[in-house]
Amino acid sequence: MPAMKSQFEQTDVVIIGGGLAGLGAAAYLARAGVAVTVFEKAPTPGGRASTQNHDGYLFNRGIHALYTGGAASEVLQELDISYSGHSPKAISALRQGRFHVAPVDTATLLRTDLLDLADKLELMRLLTRFPRLNAQEVRHTSVQEWLDKNVRRPRLHQFMAANARTLVYCSSLDLVSADVFIIKMQLALKHPILYLDGGWQTLVQGLWRKAEQAGARVLTGHRVEAIEYQDGQIQGVRLSDGTTINPLAVVIATAPKDAVKLIDNGQYKPLRQIVNSLIPAQVACLDVALRRLPNMHHTIVQDLDGPRFMSTHSLYSRVAPQGGAIIYTFKQLDPRQVSDPHEDERDLEALLDAAQPGWRELLVHRQYLPRIDAIGMLPTARAGGYAGRPGPTVPGITNLYLAGDWIGEGFLADASLGSARQVAQILLKAGLARPEKREPLASYAR
Ligand SMILES: Cc1cc2nc3c(=O)[nH]c(=O)nc-3n(C[C@H](O)[C@H](O)[C@H](O)COP(=O)(O)OP(=O)(O)OC[C@H]3O[C@@H](n4cnc5c(N)ncnc54)[C@H](O)[C@@H]3O)c2cc1C
Repeated sequence: MPAMKSQFEQTDVVIIGGGLAGLGAAAYLARAGVAVTVFEKAPTPGGRASTQNHDGYLFNRGIHALYTGGAASEVLQELDISYSGHSPKAISALRQGRFHVAPVDTATLLRTDLLDLADKLELMRLLTRFPRLNAQEVRHTSVQEWLDKNVRRPRLHQFMAANARTLVYCSSLDLVSADVFIIKMQLALKHPILYLDGGWQTLVQGLWRKAEQAGARVLTGHRVEAIEYQDGQIQGVRLSDGTTINPLAVVIATAPKDAVKLIDNGQYKPLRQIVNSLIPAQVACLDVALRRLPNMHHTIVQDLDGPRFMSTHSLYSRVAPQGGAIIYTFKQLDPRQVSDPHEDERDLEALLDAAQPGWRELLVHRQYLPRIDAIGMLPTARAGGYAGRPGPTVPGITNLYLAGDWIGEGFLADASLGSARQVAQILLKAGLARPEKREPLASYAR
């Protein structure tokens, strides 16, 4: 028997993956008294929410903003994770090589020459309609179809389509369900979008600390090799060093393809079938640290002619040394097509050249992520939007659960942390909480 087995005998729940979802689930379960162990294969937890420090410049894994008002900010509040940051302002719209003020509030709507009066009136009417729209009703409609039906004036249509591409992290609006766009717009019109001081590592550290303080073990540099199951029950979790653990329940909180590898031993197929049907949202990200910002104009740019967006996060959050700047750019890709990563990089450099000429001479560090999954599963119109996503339970296996940004409702971190909470609720309702901790269960009811 492997020597390490004894240290895991007290583990009720094994969580595989120490990103936001795994850490969030661990924090909820541990504070209810469940003995939890998180296994993370990387040397540090965080996954795609990690932040790297390059000489005081804090780089997230590509452009990240906290869209408050959804499940992520609720979970962070419930778990008492503090963070700070500011909302981006002063957005420019780039059309045919010219910058315009983007209409993002009443003052900019009045000021901008991007739209004419009739466009502006249509935009105002549209914005007043948004809060009353029922996203459920259009879950089988694509964003493209929805815009074609609801936005008549061509210039406004172009502006709304560019915003939609940025919001849904995808250039193929014909693919994505309109429910995503409508819910994101409804949240964004009501709740602030925050660039976080210290980068997203703040959230990772907060969740990690909460989980460990409540008694969870978060073991980094530990890769889970396989999940062994028989007769619809998990029999064991095998680590790459051969150690086997026998918990009561297992939560997979990895990306979809990693989830399949864990349990794909030929006998069990349902998860592979689910994952094979998923379409991720993929983006190319070019992020640069500069000694200083070359141009105080055009610090946030929405491209109207192509699927590109740029934002100077250091103006709205503490992520760079005094005087320095961090600019994130990203290109939304078509998940159905293979793009040339060099061409994508050149496109993003060209956006920086247009908005921030001189950036190359001021470069301290650059990070290029050619094709990264921003979301494990895009809610597509074909699959019925969010309702078409897999849920937290796994068909045919009673004590295996899923959490992550491809599970359940919500976009991005809302899905990761929302599904983490949902899995914890299911496990706690199933009686995994220690008896003396059962009282607070009511507080999980939603
Ligand atoms: C470019 C980009 C931009 C984004 N922008 C935003 C944004 O603006 N707002 C927002 O809310 N979200 C954004 N996101 C999404 C957000 O980062 C993710 O939704 C979230 O971080 C995913 O967390 P997760 O825990 O679900 O998955 P992950 O972060 O992928 O974590 C999975 C973890 O599992 C580990 N793992 C995998 N296999 C194993 C194994 N066998 N054993 C042990 N460990 C394993 C991995 O190492 C990883 O740490 C963005 C993502 C990207 C890439």
